[in-house]
Amino acid sequence: MAGSNDDRLDSDLEGAHLDTLAVRAGQLRTMETEHGEPIFTTSSYVFRSAADAAARFSGEDPGNVYSRYTNPTVRTLEERMAALEGAEQAVAMASGMAGILGVCMALLTSGDHVVVSRSVFGTTTTIFTRYLKRFGVETTFVDLTDIAGWQQAMTARTAMLFVETPSNPLSEVADLKQLSQLARQHDAMLVVDNTFCTPILQRPMELGADIVVYSATKYLDGQGRCMGGLVVGRAEQMKEMVAYLRAAGPTLSPFNAWVILKGLETLRLRMQAHCDAAKQLALWLQQQPKVERVHYSGLPEHPQHELASQQQRGYGGVIAFEVAGAKAEAWRFIDATRMISITANLGDTKSTITHPATTTHGRLSQEERDRSGIRDNLIRVAVGLETVEDIIADLERGLAAV
Ligand SMILES: *Cc1c(COP(=O)(O)O)cnc(C)c1O
Repeated sequence: MAGSNDDRLDSDLEGAHLDTLAVRAGQLRTMETEHGEPIFTTSSYVFRSAADAAARFSGEDPGNVYSRYTNPTVRTLEERMAALEGAEQAVAMASGMAGILGVCMALLTSGDHVVVSRSVFGTTTTIFTRYLKRFGVETTFVDLTDIAGWQQAMTARTAMLFVETPSNPLSEVADLKQLSQLARQHDAMLVVDNTFCTPILQRPMELGADIVVYSATKYLDGQGRCMGGLVVGRAEQMKEMVAYLRAAGPTLSPFNAWVILKGLETLRLRMQAHCDAAKQLALWLQQQPKVERVHYSGLPEHPQHELASQQQRGYGGVIAFEVAGAKAEAWRFIDATRMISITANLGDTKSTITHPATTTHGRLSQEERDRSGIRDNLIRVAVGLETVEDIIADLERGLAAV
């Protein structure tokens, strides 16, 4: 834009800090002078001339063509997310699963082998076992914390290591530095699902990861309003992601992009509040006679507490605990609560409670659950932003029913 007044509209964020980037990075304006981010609800874009159209289609001119793969609101989200991650580029997708499948479709090929941590999100497991297998990609599952197991699983064809850390619901922590070294030794890429930590609590690329994936549906939006996914990494690989997005079309809607953008603006404050409340709850739960064990990496007793302290800037908002008894007691606990939402979702302002053995992990066999430590008396709480005393009061109702 010409003129000294208009120059002010292109703000300079050189050297800006995280909170500033979360509020301002990627902002793009129309011919108007919006203070906020406009939502571009358009499927396509007009060109000034036939030559202009040709240049946009060939990629010579990087302007917008068609909203399946370029939209200014979506781009604002992508730029802001890349800024928060300290990464070259981010690509937005319709959901977290669309992002995870997209990474595989864009970067794997038939004959490749992948090593995946056993405790990943259930549907992620389905992508590997049910779909990629059909296209000739073999998967070996390993225990998250067993580095020797990861080493043993590597083959000459291993192209990708996929890990979700901390794990759901036991907050087990994988050593990302070690895994990235292992990946590099085998010329494979390390992909990290960072949904639980967000870039506020963990920056996997700084520890050597190649690609970071997010379900934006969780903490990035943070208010349970919409679905979304984000994939972050180096430009070279993100170019492949964009090509896949253009071909396959798992596009994030501009409205959802705008909702998630607004979520990013408060992400650090919310993550801090989730972490503080979870810590308080974990300590309180530890003192309850009817609670046998609390799983939270912020507790010194947690087996990977030290690793979590080095690798993360906080321990997250998800805690799990075992009540005295078995499934019946866990269900009675859950049913006696009167405020906390009974749902398997997480990363919301509203606290949620679930019984992993019969919901998120219900498709596993008893043996698989035993192996993963998902016991029948285990309850997961994803701590929201209500006043902690009120969450505790609700959990007290649960305890009284055990
Ligand atoms: C929810 C979730 C996903 C899937 O994301 P959707 O947005 O639901 O498609 C993937 N990974 C983790 C860790 C999740 O919690």
